[in-house]
Amino acid sequence: MANRRVKKISIAMDGPAGSGKSTVARRIAAELGLLYIDTGAMYRGITLKALRQGISLYDETALGRLARETSLEFKEMPDGSQHLFMDGEDVSEEIRSMPVNDGVSLVAAVKEVRTALLEIQQKLGARGGVVMDGRDIGTVVLPRAEWKFFLTASSLERARRRWRELKAKGLNVSLAEIEANISRRDEIDSNRKVNPLRPAADAIHLDTTEMGIEEVVDWIKKKVGEGKTNASL
Ligand code: C5P
Repeated sequence: MANRRVKKISIAMDGPAGSGKSTVARRIAAELGLLYIDTGAMYRGITLKALRQGISLYDETALGRLARETSLEFKEMPDGSQHLFMDGEDVSEEIRSMPVNDGVSLVAAVKEVRTALLEIQQKLGARGGVVMDGRDIGTVVLPRAEWKFFLTASSLERARRRWRELKAKGLNVSLAEIEANISRRDEIDSNRKVNPLRPAADAIHLDTTEMGIEEVVDWIKKKVGEGKTNASL
């Protein structure tokens, strides 16, 4: 009998910053034996490189060129976490800094940047077996994903989560600063012309405001375990 390769499922996880999607996506991937891909990290990488090189975040031509000539690679660390390597350098920590938080949505709104990163993301997802998190995964990157989730939470709760994360890393940022950053990013991400933050028509929505991470992970695992794909819901 021919050796048929079974295609593993793909899960698209979209939503605004602080909705819990990356923590949940990472956990779901580990528990279901899938590869976790954080597409936001890629936009952050390009933003970091632009800031380092003094490129204006409004210079679309230069940003597009930068995205095309940058190598972005995820590598799994011994503790199981995924680190982003940009042109061979581990930038996983630096891409979470406030200057990157403040600039990333401008960079992500540039069509040429999105085209360059989309190509890498679709290659990574081509064989299935991924949980990919971002803003346009269900709509553009993996439109045929077996599962699509769209996570939301109130803006105050989202800001609190991000603030706690940064505080745990020893960064001294005020909650007000985080709230301002998140609402500005929401605004740009939702209103940009190219592939805005939007739930796919067949995405399953979940408001995580009142939920803990465990609860969200269990909820999603249960859905996936039920075996019904989006299309059949
Ligand atoms: O997910 P994270 O908050 O790290 O994403 C950082 C930024 O990258 C988002 O605010 C958005 O501007 C951009 N992004 C995007 N499309 C994706 C993932 C992230 O535009 N698929």
